[in-house]
Amino acid sequence: MSSLPNPYLPSLARILEVVVETPDIKSFRVELCDEAARESFTFEPGQVAQLSVFGTGEATFVINSPPTRREYLQFSVMRVGEVTGRLHMLQAGDKLGLRGPLGNHFPYQDMRGKDVVFVAGGIGMAPLRTLLLFMLDNRGDYGRIRVVYGARGPANLCYRQEMEAMRDAGQIELILTVDQKSPDWAGQVGLVPNLLMELAPPADNCVAVTCGPPIMIRYTLAALEKLGFADENVVTTLERRMKCGVGLCGRCNVGGTLICVDGPVFTRAQLKALPDEF
Ligand SMILES: Cc1cc2nc3c(=O)[nH]c(=O)nc-3n(C[C@H](O)[C@H](O)[C@H](O)COP(=O)(O)OP(=O)(O)OC[C@H]3O[C@@H](n4cnc5c(N)ncnc54)[C@H](O)[C@@H]3O)c2cc1C
Repeated sequence: MSSLPNPYLPSLARILEVVVETPDIKSFRVELCDEAARESFTFEPGQVAQLSVFGTGEATFVINSPPTRREYLQFSVMRVGEVTGRLHMLQAGDKLGLRGPLGNHFPYQDMRGKDVVFVAGGIGMAPLRTLLLFMLDNRGDYGRIRVVYGARGPANLCYRQEMEAMRDAGQIELILTVDQKSPDWAGQVGLVPNLLMELAPPADNCVAVTCGPPIMIRYTLAALEKLGFADENVVTTLERRMKCGVGLCGRCNVGGTLICVDGPVFTRAQLKALPDEF
């Protein structure tokens, strides 16, 4: 894997395109300005980068385009505060800083030959998208792929058209759900963990990959346990705030574990070994 030369120094990147995904999520398709850096930049599915808006600060985002597609690096950003608010004001042609790739990655090698169930809520679909597209680009290596994805309402479902196209092409089985009924929604209504229980994917030879708001994760982990998923076969990616990204500042530690270098991807078995403060 090739990272940028100095892990503290952001490289200049150019925004090629901005896609409005939902009222509060935009996807930024970017490329490194330096051609040699662009050519040698490699990463693994699940790794993150720090994006900086000059004069404002930097924040962590997963690279949600897979390494198998090299036209651009995509980051989907939910607007929640200072940096993300400023990022949302940027347009195609604008420049930003990029530090990465950082962190570990999804254990996709261990998932070969297995079925996979993705379980996501809200912006939590962003990291899972990387792995999903990576698996579709290596389709023969994986078994059935099921996706259970929920958001507050239909307008808040990120990548909806893209995922419906995958379903229509027979690449994935898809359950989209929203929290409450609305006139513009004819699909499922209900919470993600409940829909997961109804789907009841067999735990045999299956890996579950989940990301979303903490409350969703809590009930999803409980549902997976009821369905018989072993802790080693449940993988999640944490969005705990990180600063330096290279294991030096200690701002993202849980006990002796540094989320920025030991994570953000963990199996449930690894999470259970972390101190209770998590
Ligand atoms: C490994 C990792 C991957 C991530 N990937 C993505 C991604 O792909 N897309 C995306 O939109 N976001 C992602 N995030 C979250 C993103 O980093 C934060 O939303 C961002 O740092 C907020 O910056 P801000 O300056 O806009 O918010 P601030 O102005 O600093 O804060 C605004 C509000 O958001 C809260 N907040 C900020 N960061 C976090 C956080 N990490 N967890 C919980 N609450 C927080 C603050 O407490 C505050 O209430 C990821 C975070 C991590 C650690």
